[in-house]
Amino acid sequence: MIKIIDSHVHISLYDDNAKSLQEAFAVFLQEMNRYAISGAIIIPDNIESNDNIADLDKAIELIGERKNLFLLGSPQIIQRGSSESEKYKKLLEEGRIKGIKFFPGHDPHYPTDERCLPYYELCQKLDAPVLFHTGENSGDSECARWNDPKYIVEIAKKYPKLKVIITHYYWPKIDYCYEITKDVPNIYFETAAMADAEVIEKSGGIEKVREILRKTIIDRPDKVIFGTDWPMCIIDEHIKLIKSLNLNSEIETAVFSENAKNIYNLKM
Ligand SMILES: [Zn+2]
Repeated sequence: MIKIIDSHVHISLYDDNAKSLQEAFAVFLQEMNRYAISGAIIIPDNIESNDNIADLDKAIELIGERKNLFLLGSPQIIQRGSSESEKYKKLLEEGRIKGIKFFPGHDPHYPTDERCLPYYELCQKLDAPVLFHTGENSGDSECARWNDPKYIVEIAKKYPKLKVIITHYYWPKIDYCYEITKDVPNIYFETAAMADAEVIEKSGGIEKVREILRKTIIDRPDKVIFGTDWPMCIIDEHIKLIKSLNLNSEIETAVFSENAKNIYNLKM
């Protein structure tokens, strides 16, 4: 059986999956069992104290002492600017978070926003990846202007030792995202939402999605990470998408688990 690490999970209430965050977490543990997921990275929301999605404190409380579950930080750039960098430095140094996620497009700021820079410097110094949400949000194509990969390329070039991970492939403009990033060595990709029906349809169909993923994995076999965006997306469909690429077994294993371990420095 292949080992799988799901590097993009939220503990949230979605589509009646649960009545509380505790229950949503229990549902996720069942999903891990069902699909033989051996580890996961949980991404807390950067909206605090929302009863529908776990923020960092809630996520820390939920995962408890489990050694196969990891967290990212998600600073509040709009509300607090760079002022939380000390807090995140401590969390990274203590190993309580494994990287930092930014939400340009959910939040009205560009990846190049000055308020983000201290976090990039910190992550580069501590060898922790930064993850960028990209592309449209369902029903909102306007928001994609905040997370155009051209800005992410700028950051990757400004911080050449920083591991810069793109999630959602700037859908639906996946060809553009491939082209503009292909010569930047410290850009990484994570596959969350790429098996979602709306993402596939708007991005040019399943063959187009497969083609872009294959090309990316051939270019960067050690830099593409499996992720799903559960509970908004379906884990099984993402596993099937990766398997449908017909990668050789060494590269498939890398995408499903080894790359996440190496890139996020996961000890498990
Ligand atoms: Zn997500």
